[in-house]
Amino acid sequence: MSEKIPYVPIAKPCIGEPEAEAAKRAIMSGWVTQGPEVAAFEQEFAAYVGADYACAVSNCTTALHLALLAVGVQPGDQVITVSHSYIATANSIRYCGAIPVFVDIEPQTYNINPLLIADVISERTRAILVVHQMGMPCDLKAILDVAHQHNLPVIEDAACAIGSEILWNGEWEKIGKPHGDIACFSFHPRKVITTGDGGMLTTNNPEWDKQFRLWRQHGMSVPDTVRHGAKQVIFESYPMLGYNYRMTDIQAAVGREQLKRLPEITERRRYLAQQYQQMLADIPGLKLPTEPDWVKSNWQSYCVRLPEKCDQRQVMQVMLDAGVATRRGIMCAHREPAYQIEAWLCGSRECQCEKATCDRLSESEQAQDCTVLLPLFHQMTQHEQDYVVKVLKMACQV
Ligand SMILES: *Cc1c(COP(=O)(O)O)cnc(C)c1O
Repeated sequence: MSEKIPYVPIAKPCIGEPEAEAAKRAIMSGWVTQGPEVAAFEQEFAAYVGADYACAVSNCTTALHLALLAVGVQPGDQVITVSHSYIATANSIRYCGAIPVFVDIEPQTYNINPLLIADVISERTRAILVVHQMGMPCDLKAILDVAHQHNLPVIEDAACAIGSEILWNGEWEKIGKPHGDIACFSFHPRKVITTGDGGMLTTNNPEWDKQFRLWRQHGMSVPDTVRHGAKQVIFESYPMLGYNYRMTDIQAAVGREQLKRLPEITERRRYLAQQYQQMLADIPGLKLPTEPDWVKSNWQSYCVRLPEKCDQRQVMQVMLDAGVATRRGIMCAHREPAYQIEAWLCGSRECQCEKATCDRLSESEQAQDCTVLLPLFHQMTQHEQDYVVKVLKMACQV
């Protein structure tokens, strides 16, 4: 290799001139908070995923909070979800005063194991919150079967899954249609497209969409866009407790440009993931991600399970020393100090497990401890990818 590679980052947003121009357009219009750009972004987003309604909010965590409220989650209720996710998933349940009930994952896809759900349903269960982890769609068919049997709503944490697809009655459909009741997306820079920060709720239920719009704006009866354009004096009222969960027009203008790039970004990510699958196939003991034939991931993250003899921290350090950034596997919320024993359950009864480790979540814990996320981003060159592979091979031999 002639060219020296100083540093390969884990991710890099695909963002530039068009987004900067769009932000400028919003700024120069004089209307910078939630307004016409947000409305246009919502329409374009809904059309892209095939949903009836899309409502933009400040981030995916606030989207999850509103989704749980909309399906009626109240203090003391239980919500079935995974511990093996970014902590926002479980936190959103606690914002409602409800208790997360953690279910283990499938080791191949890192998604919720649908066979374990029925077991933890109790009379206090109010909803199921599933995650399309790292952009890989979870087994929605099996999950919806269980949910329908028990008359429970399903919320999809699709934070990472914009552009991912699932085979549904013989047709490829976008995640976010939604296939459950409500899907929630993130536009954090670590995701596939970004607005700096930002989130989106999609649903086919007009009542919920109306609720989201009230809640995100303090429960205000008349949006300020309407008052601003009115010829007559209007006084607003606040019939309910709301929040400030708005997206700004500057963010939405950027998001509209990002959405235009999404097909190209998704295609490129799929190509790079395919390349990894081929180039890493011959590392003994290394387990590559599995994509079931009824889904198409957007490969928000590319996760490999290390050979048993390898130490995760050591592999990551060797790679970092060689200029390749990695991340350890997805975290487990139940192992964090913020999740003391009383904050979660792993079944319908109180968990008897030690703090920070749980027999019933062993696949989740192993996934956190034994996997590594490799660099994957739109601008990644062949040269950079070859280098990552070379360095990983070296690190696995140390
Ligand atoms: C990133 C992420 C979130 C949080 O998204 P924000 O927009 O940062 O609030 C929630 N769930 C999952 C699975 C995520 O990866």
